[in-house]
Amino acid sequence: MIHLGTQYYRPPFPNGRYWEDDIKQMADSGLDTIQLWVVWAWVEAKPDEFHFDDYDRLVALADKHGLNVVLSTIAAIHPYWIHRMVPGSEMVDNFGHRVVSSNRGEVHFGLTPGGCFDHPGVWERMKQFLTATVTHYHTVGNLLGWDAWNELRWNVQADGLVCYCDYTVNRYRSWLEAKYGGLEGLNASWQRRYTSWDDVRPGKAPDRPYTEMMAFQDFIAWRSVQHAYDRYGAMKAIDAQHPVTVHGAQPTVLHGSDSYPHATALHRGNDWGFSDRIDGIGTSSFPLWGGIEMDRAQFINRIDYSASARQGKRLWLSELQGGRSNIGFSVAQSVDAASQQSWVWTGISAGADTILFWCWRDEVFGRESTGFGLAGNDGLTPERLAAMRKTGAVLRAHGELLRAYEPAPAQVGILFSPQADYLYWSQDGTALTPLRALQGYARALVRQAIPYRIVEENHLDELTGLKLLILPRTVVMDAPLAEALAAFVQRGGVLFCESEVGAFDSAGLYRYPEDRALVGATGIREVGRRLLEGDTVTLVLDGQVYDVPAAQWLTPLVEVGQGEAESVLLKEAVLGNGRILFCGTYLGDAYLKANATHADAFEAFLLALSTRAGVMRPAVVAGVTPPGGDFVHVRFGAAPGVNGARALRPLAFVFAPDPGMSVTLRFQPATFGARVTELLSGRQIAVAEADGGQEVTVGPTEWGIAVLVGD
Ligand SMILES: [Zn+2]
Repeated sequence: MIHLGTQYYRPPFPNGRYWEDDIKQMADSGLDTIQLWVVWAWVEAKPDEFHFDDYDRLVALADKHGLNVVLSTIAAIHPYWIHRMVPGSEMVDNFGHRVVSSNRGEVHFGLTPGGCFDHPGVWERMKQFLTATVTHYHTVGNLLGWDAWNELRWNVQADGLVCYCDYTVNRYRSWLEAKYGGLEGLNASWQRRYTSWDDVRPGKAPDRPYTEMMAFQDFIAWRSVQHAYDRYGAMKAIDAQHPVTVHGAQPTVLHGSDSYPHATALHRGNDWGFSDRIDGIGTSSFPLWGGIEMDRAQFINRIDYSASARQGKRLWLSELQGGRSNIGFSVAQSVDAASQQSWVWTGISAGADTILFWCWRDEVFGRESTGFGLAGNDGLTPERLAAMRKTGAVLRAHGELLRAYEPAPAQVGILFSPQADYLYWSQDGTALTPLRALQGYARALVRQAIPYRIVEENHLDELTGLKLLILPRTVVMDAPLAEALAAFVQRGGVLFCESEVGAFDSAGLYRYPEDRALVGATGIREVGRRLLEGDTVTLVLDGQVYDVPAAQWLTPLVEVGQGEAESVLLKEAVLGNGRILFCGTYLGDAYLKANATHADAFEAFLLALSTRAGVMRPAVVAGVTPPGGDFVHVRFGAAPGVNGARALRPLAFVFAPDPGMSVTLRFQPATFGARVTELLSGRQIAVAEADGGQEVTVGPTEWGIAVLVGD
């Protein structure tokens, strides 16, 4: 079963007089799950006294109306007594100032950021709250699972870079000691002459030496993953049965945009690290957030980033926008049913098994007042709830099939390098540039119906099955990564590398072009940085000319021993059964700013790159009526036979930009039988045999969405 639910209670709101009618209406609207925020400060307002009476009533009401419950443990909102009971537990910022905690902007009662969880007294108290909560609820019949860490928040309103308290700095030194096998190992890697660990300080700010700033960011990301494990371990020790998940405010990849002075890159950890151990990961998504609205490709990419990191674990859309995103004294765009349903079904198509809206009623306090209610006052509640009833019915009717479904494995990968993020952030105070590079490729691939996944640099078994791996601004490379990439190519893979690939090591030290790992294997090197005139370059691939957008600089390529006169901007080397292509500039982020002509050229270049690497597109758009408009998104996959049937059942999720559009899709030969069923309408559609494949025509549809299932 795919679960469809909504966040409801962030104490003390909504007021208890609404509860029963609201919960009944949720059940009548096709939802099957309610989420409650169990806030530490609220539950344990007095030390060692836990009060769950309001939650008990909500859980019972949910049960009465047939709803499951997800409990979100909000351990980042500390009780007001935390510093009284645990003296000296304040966080310390990068200027050595003790952080003054205060009420959180979006939580009515409690302290943030509160104490540092590296202080054993703080963690002991936090663990006691988690333990008390899980002990109280783990035997409840309608408990669906736990959201153990909301948006991975720990440093909100610290108002500066944290944490530099003695506990955290000592933990940082222990982490370095374990990583480098002692001070001598650290000195060897960092090329320094430390004589005492006391002198090894975390990086303080951007635009200083990269070495310790990169190391400290890596440590902070690791520490967030460890903290998630600690919460997970405390909860699983009592409740081994229910899934325990954590979710980010956004997928890890997008945290590259987090900026000084508030956060380092990846300060909230790493989804791949979470899914190494935890039962599931998730992300919040507010696609119509005023001023930073996501277009269709951006939303699809966002879900792809999370799905890429799940490693077979659960994927939750843990906070999906319910109603309009009013912030402060603003009025944002209302949330229409068709857009909202496209988010829901995009999540399901990517493998999500639980979708929770934020939230049911409009908020009533602070900057979020008047916003976000799925059943709120933005004028579109009737159409949203009618649509949700319909989706809820489809999920109930086909729950087993949709739960068993898995997207087809991608053959194209985009490398995500946390180390590159740390390096850029160490210079710029943000890793937005490598993030934009990655986003460019992801966007173009979605628009060209080429399935892809993000491959994180520490999880390289995920290279298996890939034919093409793109390295956008992968400017940092240590030997293990270089060796794994070379092995991938030896086995027959194709690498596409942007400028200055592996130009730095993870100690932040620059390598001359001839000293980089891939040069020895390929005999191709860069001549050095040259000025980029204009914002395009001409690349020649297999005799075809592409005028593609370019950014920042040129690093022309030569064979070792050649002079600059013989340099080109795209150069290929054969290595074993595969190939490495070097590109002497940056295309991905340039594409995001390009005009339509050059953007089209980049997409054509990427399609050619994929095709010549042997990448297969499971479904392509053969035609649309009326012509024009935004791209059609198709996600293809299969469900293993259910009810004892053995065969794989093919599924295709189709997202047209306009419900009135009719779309003809071409699938690979023998994908389907003679007909498919469209799940949302229940209609049967004939499958036509066509040149080089099978064609299915869908639409018009109610929301621009069709879910095709083969027999
Ligand atoms: Zn600390």
